[in-house]
Amino acid sequence: MGFGLSRVAGVGAGRVATHQAAADRIGETQRTIQFGKVLGIAGTVTLDANTRDAATERRAGDDIVVAALYRFAPWPDYASCRAPLTAVARAAGVKGTLLLAAEGINGTIAGTEAGIADVLASLRALPGFAGLDVKYSRAPAMPFGRLKVRLKREIVTMGVDGIDPLKSVGTYVAPADWNALISDPETLVVDTRNAYEVSIGTFAGAHDPGTRSFREFPAWIAQRLADGPRPRRIAMFCTGGIRCEKATAYVRQLGVEEVYHLEGGILKYLETVDEATSLWRGECFVFDERVSVGHGLKAGTHKLCHACGKPVEVAGETGGGFIDDACDECRAGRASG
Ligand SMILES: [Zn+2]
Repeated sequence: MGFGLSRVAGVGAGRVATHQAAADRIGETQRTIQFGKVLGIAGTVTLDANTRDAATERRAGDDIVVAALYRFAPWPDYASCRAPLTAVARAAGVKGTLLLAAEGINGTIAGTEAGIADVLASLRALPGFAGLDVKYSRAPAMPFGRLKVRLKREIVTMGVDGIDPLKSVGTYVAPADWNALISDPETLVVDTRNAYEVSIGTFAGAHDPGTRSFREFPAWIAQRLADGPRPRRIAMFCTGGIRCEKATAYVRQLGVEEVYHLEGGILKYLETVDEATSLWRGECFVFDERVSVGHGLKAGTHKLCHACGKPVEVAGETGGGFIDDACDECRAGRASG
């Protein structure tokens, strides 16, 4: 297989994030989450590469536990689980969003340690969900206004029927092995994220599909494979890993055999790979109040334009293209009516 790659089942990490800084700006957090929804991103993927260890390193006042979770597992009776799960979460004082579908669960919830433990215990008791992937972080105050338990067709919306990551997912590649894989000229490197995310940072040499939503990705990659010479292998990546679970399964269905994806997503790479050897360029867009993060997951330099919702660099050479909460383009548009 080369690259010392090993297949690690069930390790994708749909990191959800809520950063502690969210602490100070609850309003911002909620707006950002809304924004994610407008963009059609299922599951309010807020990222935080914080691991369970980080979650236990609580800062003074960070009493709220935020749990970002996902799991692909066949769940034929998911609809009938909505009411009991809602009841458990309400009783536990937990808020946030849970998306339930026949293919699994995805979401981000927050509450007290005991409250989160209650909800996770209920989820893990479901058949097939013992291995639920959970990423923890802490916040000083409840970052969600309410609890939403929703029934969906997909837990991350790609819009292609019959894609089952459990049957045909690609091969996971650890961050430490990623550089060798994407540096090989016979590897087609594809960023599965949307254009507004790619615009502020991506891997050197990665192809940008220019998509507005993940729903457009399948058509783009199918066309790319039909148009160009067939690549020897494909390497894909996304923020926390969940989109690639579907994207790699789809590409394998298109007949490409060597399909790889970055385990734990860009966030795990930025958390673990040294900046000196990193092939990441720019910052990584995240779905929380930080807007972007860099190496070591340090908060980045972007804000969201309140008019168009795009990430805009705050501290640019010209002092930033971001004045009065709007980007240059939007302000120019306003001026011209
Ligand atoms: Zn704008």
